[in-house]
Amino acid sequence: MTSGDVHGFGHAPMNHCPFMPVFGPPAIMFDRGRGTELWDSDGKRYLDFLTGLAVVSIGHANPTVAEAVGDQAERLLHVSNFFANPVATEAAVKINGLLKAATGRSGQVFFTNSGAESNECAIKLARKHGGRGRHNIVSTLGSFHGRTLATLAATGQPAKHEPFQPMPEGFRHVALGDIDAMRAAVDGTVAAVLIEPIQGEGGVHPASHQYLHDIRQICDDAGALLILDEIQTGFARTGEWFGFEHAGISPDVVTMAKAMGNGMPVGACWARTDVASVFEPGDHGSTYSGTAIACAAVNATLDEMERIDAPRRATEQGHKLARSLQSVAGVTSIRGRGLMLGVELAEGLDAKQAYLDLLDAGLIVNAVDPSTIRLLPPLTVSDDEIDEAVSMIANALEQQGGEA
Ligand SMILES: *Cc1c(COP(=O)(O)O)cnc(C)c1O
Repeated sequence: MTSGDVHGFGHAPMNHCPFMPVFGPPAIMFDRGRGTELWDSDGKRYLDFLTGLAVVSIGHANPTVAEAVGDQAERLLHVSNFFANPVATEAAVKINGLLKAATGRSGQVFFTNSGAESNECAIKLARKHGGRGRHNIVSTLGSFHGRTLATLAATGQPAKHEPFQPMPEGFRHVALGDIDAMRAAVDGTVAAVLIEPIQGEGGVHPASHQYLHDIRQICDDAGALLILDEIQTGFARTGEWFGFEHAGISPDVVTMAKAMGNGMPVGACWARTDVASVFEPGDHGSTYSGTAIACAAVNATLDEMERIDAPRRATEQGHKLARSLQSVAGVTSIRGRGLMLGVELAEGLDAKQAYLDLLDAGLIVNAVDPSTIRLLPPLTVSDDEIDEAVSMIANALEQQGGEA
């Protein structure tokens, strides 16, 4: 396809693509969804085991979220941060409640519109907390923290930096799991360590519990903050409300987005109160921070996640999915936790080809590196849907193995 053509947009191809060419040609035009299912504009049905990248965690067109957003749209969309609205207050209390239970400490919330903005807030907060001369941020190679300039600089993928050099100053990267490199990097100039409990975009690579414990100790010794990027792992995805809970550590700052609004664009940066209180009026802001319509989605999503015990569901359905996949020919190992799984394919099998074959068969997954497919189904996925997806994966790998 040439960049001037867009197929699948309505029934007639357009001769001028209205989108900037950053995402590649769109494969399919989706029209509607329900739970784990999606339908394209030709009426073909798919099982969604990607959920818009860990966003639609309680299913497409979730009736509770849809009703809350619809009601809020008829009542009040937005008022600005010069004023309060009860929806944002309720959402902030809920988020702080979850993080207080997870960390043992009370804190404060800044609402954002995306994951990158949540990390931007955390980076600015850490710099102000550190003060002049203590502004460096240490993150891991292979990490992903966003696409704005500062969060791109924090992202440990040099190839993504190249077209946009020079990067903003003040970011260091060390290999994931190398605790000596981390200890050497966290000197008196470091404001914070920023880390995902499981690298998501980097290929589903968990940080070990011991590694996270040791980083906590290194940060304490050096007077640096520990920021957990829970943008992909947060909100029950891994079987706990937040990924760091498995390790039993207590971060100072936690960033979130993705599943928080089940599809409404919203995120947050939480920090324990003594850290958050270094911000003063005017230090940070965003027009849509705490806007009522997004916070209505947050409240409904969190209520529904609590009602269905989403962490337990992620654990149980994750075990079922991983167990079934273990017996599929062509699968060599499975990484991750809960319903965030990286499926490593045998040599000779190609993850990109598997992705394309599965799309054809009606299953949406993602090739996160040349040999790994990533699965992020809704936490509400049923046993039958797991069986159906695993049999599609088995068929696709068998077909590819036969051709190889
Ligand atoms: C997706 C993601 C981000 C960026 O979130 P956006 O909403 O795309 O800005 C940051 N960190 C992690 C771990 C992510 O998975």
